[in-house]
Amino acid sequence: CQMNEYDSEVAAGLLEAAGYKIVQNSKTSSVIPAKAGIQSSGSPIKAFGDDKEENADVYLMNTCSVREHAEDRVYGRLGMLGKIKRENPNLIVGLMGCMVEEHREKLFKRFPSLDLMIGTRNIKELPALIDEVRRSRKQVAQIKQDGISIEYTDQIKRRGTFHAWLPIMTGCDKVCTYCIVPKTRGSEVSMPVREVYREASRLASEGVKWITLLGQNVNSYRGDVVQTVGADPRVRPESKHGPAHGSAPTSVSFPQLLEMLCEIEGLDRISFTTSHPSDATEELFQVIARNSKISRRFHLPLQSGSNRVLKRMKRLHTIEHYRAQIDRLRSLVPGISVTTDLISGFSGETEEDHQATLEAMRQIRFDSAFMYKYSLRPGTPAAKLKDDVTPQVKAARHAELLALQKTITRENRELNFGKTVTVCVEERSSRDPRRFIGRTDQDQKMVFEVGAPLVGARACEPGDFVRARITGLVHETYVGESPG
Ligand code: SAH
Ligand code: SF4
Repeated sequence: CQMNEYDSEVAAGLLEAAGYKIVQNSKTSSVIPAKAGIQSSGSPIKAFGDDKEENADVYLMNTCSVREHAEDRVYGRLGMLGKIKRENPNLIVGLMGCMVEEHREKLFKRFPSLDLMIGTRNIKELPALIDEVRRSRKQVAQIKQDGISIEYTDQIKRRGTFHAWLPIMTGCDKVCTYCIVPKTRGSEVSMPVREVYREASRLASEGVKWITLLGQNVNSYRGDVVQTVGADPRVRPESKHGPAHGSAPTSVSFPQLLEMLCEIEGLDRISFTTSHPSDATEELFQVIARNSKISRRFHLPLQSGSNRVLKRMKRLHTIEHYRAQIDRLRSLVPGISVTTDLISGFSGETEEDHQATLEAMRQIRFDSAFMYKYSLRPGTPAAKLKDDVTPQVKAARHAELLALQKTITRENRELNFGKTVTVCVEERSSRDPRRFIGRTDQDQKMVFEVGAPLVGARACEPGDFVRARITGLVHETYVGESPG
């Protein structure tokens, strides 16, 4: 998830500051092998021969527990690293992320080749922990169980220069029965509002134009307002966005935080993920409508179109409630893109339930959806329910969801042909200097050409926001043109 990506960026930055060279920082598999370089004297080694991942001195994996498949991949890789370690006994193998929180020291027994485990609240101690392994040659773990698992640091090694992740809360107080997150990430903790504001301002001053606020459920953000002398007046309780009562308010809600962040000069776009339907309020929708800086993509996980299944999932919303929310949002923010998450084959899901999900998709017409086959997670409330949809049926239903969504995505995209949209330029094509790749304000990918007169001038560079007209589609990517 994006939270892991952020943590990987922090870990990579801390290691780099400690003298390590990062040889691969994989986006999709959240693996950060680091080419370690601490000599016994402690001075960093700069030259390593070749920079291949398998030649790294430290191999770190940032892990996810949401589905069994993700864990299995890590187990597979740990097995493989065990073999590599026989040839290179100095290799240090480490794990971070949700699997550490979930399985803890048990993993040391199962994988003798695993050297270190670091909890999501301990990332800062990573360089010191690696040193400890090197000194003691023992398996070491540091897993703190309380507090916030967010680290703001200017040592972060961000992938992009103009986009940044900005976690604002972690943990989850919901109890969706299929989900392991409340167990691995603990209960909700929000970053104080001043910290978030300060970090967002710092990012803007570094040239970041687009931030994505992160949390398991950003809508339940409640940031403490800590009043100190000399505080930034915009973050004082009397702020025009704070609740307007006589007594000083003690916390700021997510919609209020969004409006505060919209005031930061230099930030052009603000996205956020994820929202829970029962906390996505009218106030939030109004704030989105009022502020054009807020991304025109709203991600709201539905999970199932059947009320019976939603109830078994303890999702706290019905399909009727969900549809009413989307209708309201669309009436306030015409053209907003709505995306979702869906699970197929949850415990007890019948063909009729599955049809209800397909029907919901046809009616709501999401712009895109992440679709998953249900994976029973030991330790979740649903682990007590039977995982009674066979793998074949799960796969068939999942394929049906994918096929339907593919059609809807294409049809929705085609409706936008001819429209002019704002695009955040992400990169320039290496083959054609007039060609750029970017993301529209609905967070959809676009490849576009810039008019000849503006190419020479400093008219279009990564991080710029330009207007471009949508002219076509290749797979799910828009094709377009911009006068510059
Ligand atoms: N906090 C976020 C993300 C949770 S995990 C949220 O509430 O949306 C991201 C997605 O993974 C979920 O929305 C759900 O669709 C999926 N997911 C979670 N647990 C799962 C499981 N056990 N099996 C299959 N998919 C799951
Ligand atoms: Fe998991 Fe539900 Fe919390 Fe999302 S809201 S993290 S799905 S328990």
